[in-house]
Amino acid sequence: MTNVRVRFAPSPTGYLHLGSARTALFNFLFARSQGGTFLVRIEDTDRERSKKEFEEDIFENLKWLGIDWDEEVLKQSERTQIYRGIIEELIKKGLAYYCFCSKEELELRHQEQLTRGETPRYPGTCRNLTPEEALSKKKEQNYVIRLKTPERQITFKDFLRGEIRADYRQIGDFVIAKKEDEPLYVLANTVDDYYQGITHVIRGEEFISTTPRQLLLYKYLEWPLPIFVHLPLVLGQDRSKLSKRHGAKSIKEYRQEGYLPEAILNFIALLGWHPEGDEEIMSLGEMIKKFKLEKLNKSPAIFNISKLNYFNRFYLKNKKPDDIIELIDFSQHGQWLGNEFKAKNGVSYSREKVLKIIELGKERASFITEILATVNFFFEDFDYPAQLLIWKDSSFEKIKENLNFIKERLEKLSSDHFNSEKIKAILDEMSSHNKGEFFWPLRVALSGKDASPPPFELADVFGKERTLALIDRAIAKLI
Ligand code: GLU
Repeated sequence: MTNVRVRFAPSPTGYLHLGSARTALFNFLFARSQGGTFLVRIEDTDRERSKKEFEEDIFENLKWLGIDWDEEVLKQSERTQIYRGIIEELIKKGLAYYCFCSKEELELRHQEQLTRGETPRYPGTCRNLTPEEALSKKKEQNYVIRLKTPERQITFKDFLRGEIRADYRQIGDFVIAKKEDEPLYVLANTVDDYYQGITHVIRGEEFISTTPRQLLLYKYLEWPLPIFVHLPLVLGQDRSKLSKRHGAKSIKEYRQEGYLPEAILNFIALLGWHPEGDEEIMSLGEMIKKFKLEKLNKSPAIFNISKLNYFNRFYLKNKKPDDIIELIDFSQHGQWLGNEFKAKNGVSYSREKVLKIIELGKERASFITEILATVNFFFEDFDYPAQLLIWKDSSFEKIKENLNFIKERLEKLSSDHFNSEKIKAILDEMSSHNKGEFFWPLRVALSGKDASPPPFELADVFGKERTLALIDRAIAKLI
């Protein structure tokens, strides 16, 4: 264990989305690669927008992705006492003060500043109220608590970007709490990072603008600074802010659409990280081994949905049916009766057969949700026009003859030997001159389609009885 302590601090105001999952992943990878600690902290200072449902979604989907944490800290709403203490201390030291200005008044001042060509900021109206004045006003008026900002510039260091310059004169005295018991994000987040011993604050670039405010709190409270690492933005391919339009969704939605956690992880890992070497396919374990904070980029990452789809196809191809079966929703195709699957067309398949179906289905699928759809002839009654049975310019008669021939040979094969290897051998043997005239009609007879897994594989899954029945049906079509 090193003393590295990092956190993922989502606000539960929406479902876990791709961008926050990336922040979580980089924090996790850094902690794991350093033997440090990774904690998840729910930042629910925005009471109106924070929802239990979102909180649960965040934890559930982090788990689904395989990002596990060492500590789950109390929500901010359960720590109001701590923030209250800090707010009171700042007020006592004269570093923060009560502000009674109304919204209308502030709006008016802002307009005046804008007309004068100044950057709008709080004009400092309540800055110099005496404690007695403030106390008596507090009894009858609404208030917020503001932090005093100095009249100067500041530079601070970001791990990836180096020196960053900001100006407190443009920020002005900013609000740190609505009331003593209602701290805002800027305060609660800083206090938590300090009390939770966070050594590296790794978060999205959109938080750079809050950093100068937080630094002032560290200074006033005489706390040591963590290292700030602001992750690059993720932009759409047109370089505009990432949105649904570019295909960016919540993890929950990707999951429903049939994406695999491995593919999403691999994809988000490369949004802003350039690992050594050219290999892009990485498991979580490999990512941990390779991860270096120094290798993160500062320029924006571009979200490319086709790359995510490519990863998904790759991981799907390489995943064993045994690991996929649990991820598939079978309900539309029939039902499980113990270890047997009774399909809608009345055919029953053993678990072994279903694994075989998954193996065949995943060859043509890019998503979990497509697997069964590509081989739906196993589950549903299907029909096709007789003409489809005809290979190129063969005749009805020829195809009928061949199907009869296939039928005769397969009838002789005992159920025990009715497997793809044996069936393929039979087909190969009888079709030495013209494969298409045998393989093609059998494929159509068993699937009703012009593209499917090889017919001997279909026959193997269907078993002898159903295969022969389907061949009979095809023959009957060829009058
Ligand atoms: N609560 C912030 C959010 O919603 C996190 C800020 C931070 O990581 O410092 O993303």
